[in-house]
Amino acid sequence: MTTPTPRPRLIAFDADDTLWPNQPHFDHVETQVVALLAAHGNAAHIGRELYNVQRRNMHLFGYGAKSFMLAMVETAIQLTNGAVTGRELQPLLDLGKRLLDFPIEPLPGVVEVLTELTRRGEPLMVLTKGDLFDQESKVARSGLGDFFAHVEIVSEKNEATYQRILTRYGVHPEEFVMIGNSLKSDILPVARLGARAIHVPYHPVWIHEEVPAEQLAGVAYHRVEVLTDVLVYLK
Ligand SMILES: [Mg+2]
Repeated sequence: MTTPTPRPRLIAFDADDTLWPNQPHFDHVETQVVALLAAHGNAAHIGRELYNVQRRNMHLFGYGAKSFMLAMVETAIQLTNGAVTGRELQPLLDLGKRLLDFPIEPLPGVVEVLTELTRRGEPLMVLTKGDLFDQESKVARSGLGDFFAHVEIVSEKNEATYQRILTRYGVHPEEFVMIGNSLKSDILPVARLGARAIHVPYHPVWIHEEVPAEQLAGVAYHRVEVLTDVLVYLK
């Protein structure tokens, strides 16, 4: 006889690239940044520098659009050996500001899934990492806020973070379900705690969220091709 899977007491959704598209906006802005800085290097070089600056500063600034904006400015300074002018930096900042107010459109199936889980009486949470102000604004702009009993915005999604959330909400790992697009942030740490993780792939993936295949060996998680399949999995 198999032990029945306990009914979830908390179902958490990642936000960016799970509930709504995010990475395409960053990629689009990066393309424009590369074009603005084209006199100072080829696209691959500028892209690499931009990512290196972001990664180097992540422990200071965390994730999100404002860190990305600072990285654009620092990259421009580096690429020009400090010669970049205010006139050249202003369009970079203007591009970055677009990342803070683009319209948030739910991905296909999101409203259907949230509506059905709400009908079933499941307690739902948004669990996202990044800048507090920016992420709160995205939840508000999405119009999805009323579906969620809880919104948690954290600086990093690792095992310690998930453990803290479970403890705070008095939920055992086997009663927790995390749904998200990032193997690194939404799946691996959750599976390692013995909770259920559902991977909903989304393309493109930010390079920082990529996971080498060997890290996934033996990790137990569920993968759905479309978000609406979680309704069947969680029945
Ligand atoms: Mg995500």
